[in-house]
Amino acid sequence: MTDKETRVLERVEANWSRELDFLAGMVKRPSLLGQEALVQNYIAQELRGMGFEPELWDIDHAQIAKAPGYSPVEWSYQNRPNLTAVWQSPSNEGRSLILNSHIDVVPATPEHFWHFDPWGAQIHEGRMYGRGAADMKSGAAAMIYALHAIKEAGIRLQGNVTVETVIEEECTGNGALATLTRGLKADACIIPEPFNQTLLIGQVGVMWARITVRGAGAHVLGAEKAVNAIDKAYELIKVIKKLEQTANEAPKPAAYQHHPHPLNYNVGKLHSGDWTSSVPSEASVEVRIGAYPGADLRASQEMFKTELLEGLKHDDWLNQHPPQISFYAFMAEGCYIKEDNPIFAPLAKAHQHIMGTEINRHVSTATTDVRFFELYHQIPATCYGAIGGNLHAPDEWVDLESVKNTTKVLALAIMDWCGVS
Ligand SMILES: [Zn+2]
Repeated sequence: MTDKETRVLERVEANWSRELDFLAGMVKRPSLLGQEALVQNYIAQELRGMGFEPELWDIDHAQIAKAPGYSPVEWSYQNRPNLTAVWQSPSNEGRSLILNSHIDVVPATPEHFWHFDPWGAQIHEGRMYGRGAADMKSGAAAMIYALHAIKEAGIRLQGNVTVETVIEEECTGNGALATLTRGLKADACIIPEPFNQTLLIGQVGVMWARITVRGAGAHVLGAEKAVNAIDKAYELIKVIKKLEQTANEAPKPAAYQHHPHPLNYNVGKLHSGDWTSSVPSEASVEVRIGAYPGADLRASQEMFKTELLEGLKHDDWLNQHPPQISFYAFMAEGCYIKEDNPIFAPLAKAHQHIMGTEINRHVSTATTDVRFFELYHQIPATCYGAIGGNLHAPDEWVDLESVKNTTKVLALAIMDWCGVS
């Protein structure tokens, strides 16, 4: 450990209670789809207090719509800013780095399932509870306080560091995509997703499908002549589960060989019915579909459509009234991160220093914003972040000791990657 490194780690310790307050402040600002401005303004204020010059900017939809990796959306980007701040190196002779976190969170409903207030950032036995506490406001806190420690210790980095807090990682990735179309590039990127202090080496592709089935509505007194759309949706879901099973029984790529169920076809939304004594005329089902890295997503969508319609042929009504199938939001390709990724070494070395153990690798059955940097811009990228649990579920938590350790690991890795003068 060099003198400079020791000084930086001391700053992380000294700032820990402020970092904790900052994390709690983010968790207390719900940043659901469409409501991201409040937390972004809060982060901007924190960064300004540290001497950074953050920019808040709305996504240019027309511009990203032409870019590879774009996911089509049904909503506007007005007043839903991304935040970026570049810390310029005085020499700019070293390697540059992007630190990227998403600040959008998934809904916490039904909130009565929680034992803790989902927006309360309550601390209990070394864990902070709340929606986004782990995924991934913990990462935003760690990367910002890692940089703050370096700055406060008077260290001059030899490469520029760009801090990014982006929207829409949970539905499209268009927030991260927009930073790249805006021209923010670097020699590597770290995304501190809460993957238990491991290095991400692969992630699946993800698509969202919306399937609408029609019935023939009626008053319940004539129900024998009616066709109940909820009953038909039930048939549909059974076929989706069969397709999921078939997809997981097919030969798996090497990275997923030992995973029992890499491809999840998650029925995440079901909407139908408006009156208990009416037979519903329509039902819609939304499904998240996983795909292996390398899969052509358009082809996967066509195959899903064909197989679904084929699977519904046994049902006379659905055969004659095939459901409407459309796709929106996530068009996320899967990707692998190669072992020779140059950002691995600084992270592995820093992890060894702080944790005293060798770093593990992690293959994910979900997606992250890593794909934009790796697949479309040849910027080596990976995830390394805190230990957390119940992500996307009630009682989401993050282990606070691991947030502090992640802050330290990131600080050392940043100095190692960019170089210090
Ligand atoms: Zn996340």
